[in-house]
Amino acid sequence: MNVDLHCHSHFSDGQHPPQFLLDRAVANNVTHLAITDHDCLLNCSELKVPPGLTLVPGLEISASWRAMEIHIVGLSIDAESKPLQDFVSRQQQLRRDRISAMDKKLSGQNISGLLDYLQSKPCISWTRGHVAEFLVSKGHGKDMQRAFKRFLRPGGSAHVAAQWPEIGEAIAAIQQASGIAVLAHPGRYGLTRSKLGRLMDDFQQDGGDAVEVSYGSINYVQRTSLITMTQERGLYASAGSDFHSAERQWTDIGKFPALGSAAIKNAIWAHPRWHFL
Ligand code: AMP
Ligand code: MN
Ligand code: MN
Ligand code: MN
Repeated sequence: MNVDLHCHSHFSDGQHPPQFLLDRAVANNVTHLAITDHDCLLNCSELKVPPGLTLVPGLEISASWRAMEIHIVGLSIDAESKPLQDFVSRQQQLRRDRISAMDKKLSGQNISGLLDYLQSKPCISWTRGHVAEFLVSKGHGKDMQRAFKRFLRPGGSAHVAAQWPEIGEAIAAIQQASGIAVLAHPGRYGLTRSKLGRLMDDFQQDGGDAVEVSYGSINYVQRTSLITMTQERGLYASAGSDFHSAERQWTDIGKFPALGSAAIKNAIWAHPRWHFL
């Protein structure tokens, strides 16, 4: 079993179509892949899943905890679930409203055309990543990092705060769709160990199931610490690359430290709602 349970297609801010991700997963010896687009459910009907690969239905929800943005991955979900579909529609509307407000701010700075740019793309969920790409394509910043810094981060000239639902609402929406709720990339929120412990406690209190203990760019110390914190709470362990593009500096599909013998004991595939061999 070689899982990658977190990556993005061009339906959110990934660069490639889902079929590309499936083929790359096979090339990289991944056996179980979840495409987890931001606030977006994948329509799998036209996908050709290669033999030897299992596609685990998933998504990544943007949520809020103590005024911070936290990401919750949903795995093994029923994509036909009406409550989850309704939740996702509301998230996509929040995203359109946020990006439209950014467009107004950019127009005030004589930068026009963002909405046309987005409409020319295959994306269903609009993200700040797209805004950064647009700004770079128009020559407003050498690369996405710089565009983020100048325009999109708090304090940037086109920044608009997001109004995400609480993590408990995201967990509930995933579980109403029979899914497993996973705290995404916990080391990327800039929290101290004690604050991260509080986040995990609240996540668990709200019914959360699992924690990503391995992902792209994680180091050994962080991974060991996350495995310990996850096991102390009796939560399950998940892992994924968070791959977005083969062209940029993202971790490749399947190319992150494996769960390892310590985390395998409470691996996500032991969860009662994991339905895949
Ligand atoms: P949003 O969910 O609309 O706030 O967009 C966030 C997405 O933008 C993330 O999932 C990343 O893919 C991307 N992103 C966030 N920060 C940066 C950054 N500093 N440079 C490049 N991409 C970023
Ligand atoms: Mn992203
Ligand atoms: Mn994320
Ligand atoms: Mn992600």
